[in-house]
Amino acid sequence: MRKLYSSIRGTCDFSPLQASSFYSITHRTREIFRIFGYQEIILPLLEEAGVFIRGVGKNTDIVEKQLFGVARRQGEAKSDVVLRPEGTAQVVRYYLQNSLYKQSSFHKFFYIGPMFRGERPQKGRLRQFHHIGAEAIGSDSIYLDAELISLALHILDEVGVAKKELRINTLGCSSDKEKFSKELQKIFASKKGKLCQDCQKRAALNPLRILDCKQAQCRKLIESLHLGEARVCAQCKRQFHDLLSLLSALNIQYIYEPYLVRGLDYYTHSVFEITSKELGSQDALGAGGRYNSLIKELGGPDVAAAGFALGIERILLALGELKHPETIRAFIAVADSTLMPDALAILQKIRAKGISSEMDYCDRSLKAQLRYAQKLGARFVVIVGQEEAKDNCVTLKDMEESFQEKLSLDQAIAKIHNRGGN
Ligand SMILES: [Zn+2]
Ligand SMILES: [Zn+2]
Repeated sequence: MRKLYSSIRGTCDFSPLQASSFYSITHRTREIFRIFGYQEIILPLLEEAGVFIRGVGKNTDIVEKQLFGVARRQGEAKSDVVLRPEGTAQVVRYYLQNSLYKQSSFHKFFYIGPMFRGERPQKGRLRQFHHIGAEAIGSDSIYLDAELISLALHILDEVGVAKKELRINTLGCSSDKEKFSKELQKIFASKKGKLCQDCQKRAALNPLRILDCKQAQCRKLIESLHLGEARVCAQCKRQFHDLLSLLSALNIQYIYEPYLVRGLDYYTHSVFEITSKELGSQDALGAGGRYNSLIKELGGPDVAAAGFALGIERILLALGELKHPETIRAFIAVADSTLMPDALAILQKIRAKGISSEMDYCDRSLKAQLRYAQKLGARFVVIVGQEEAKDNCVTLKDMEESFQEKLSLDQAIAKIHNRGGN
């Protein structure tokens, strides 16, 4: 017996039904981005590891545990190539490589494509998944934060995710973050034993990250600390309150979540997550925030920016049962195989009108062809028999109305084409 292959763990195949949902989500999303003034970019799946090590942070889960290295071809100069784990650092690499800040002080981009993380696969956590991402570079305005948040929610609304919650927090400026990190380092140093294994390591290197650890023991410890509101300076606090008022003015409901920190180092100021109860323990549909120091960190000028990413697989999970994809409109059936050339000519004519149509390629009997047409969901069957071929006409069978009539081919096509009518 030959070995039967199956897909790699943590990857998923999209069936025609899922692919059709995937297409309608991304199609609708592109239209919304156009309305909001974001321009699409398509960037490679391969990047130098440094983009993420420096950008996302070397003590983050993404870099420490989840980067997918790619083997280099023999003889090539040594550089660490990885499959991209996220889009933000990559978009910033693109922005800097092309010195886009010289062309204009403000840019808005979006991208749709696969990301890769070497995760332990579980429901909602994949090794290859797809992001819809937006990045707006060149502004520190809270109006931009508000636009991005409302844009992310609008996309989810429009693709049909009705129930979702927006959670929001502020991490403050870089110096607020650093101060709070040091404070947490001190607190956790004496309580290390109560933390999960991952957080014991984070306690010294990335203590902020402990705040949104999902492990029960860590949650318990954090709640016992009564940290209260985020520790940010007066200016950052005012900025955050102004943002929250803006959201309220836009009728956007939010939950203030003081422990929301996100697992990536580059975030500063506002961070947010959009969650759905339909998703189980991995409940984020998407997330985003401001990353005012990332561009400088990657060697560029001091430029403020913000963005978000939504997970397409998570959206599909939240949508639950999928609608059937569109069925074909017309089927060309032949009374016997000598009429196949006629059927092919008719099929070509109907397809040229943009009507989805199909014929039989498996030598089925006429009866079996009609059954097959029904299975395909065809509304009309065009039957070509010897008599019809002689009279230069066809029999058009309306499968819904159980009615059939002899017509010229042009008349039949007109009837099939008439989508609105009966
Ligand atoms: Zn501050
Ligand atoms: Zn933990």
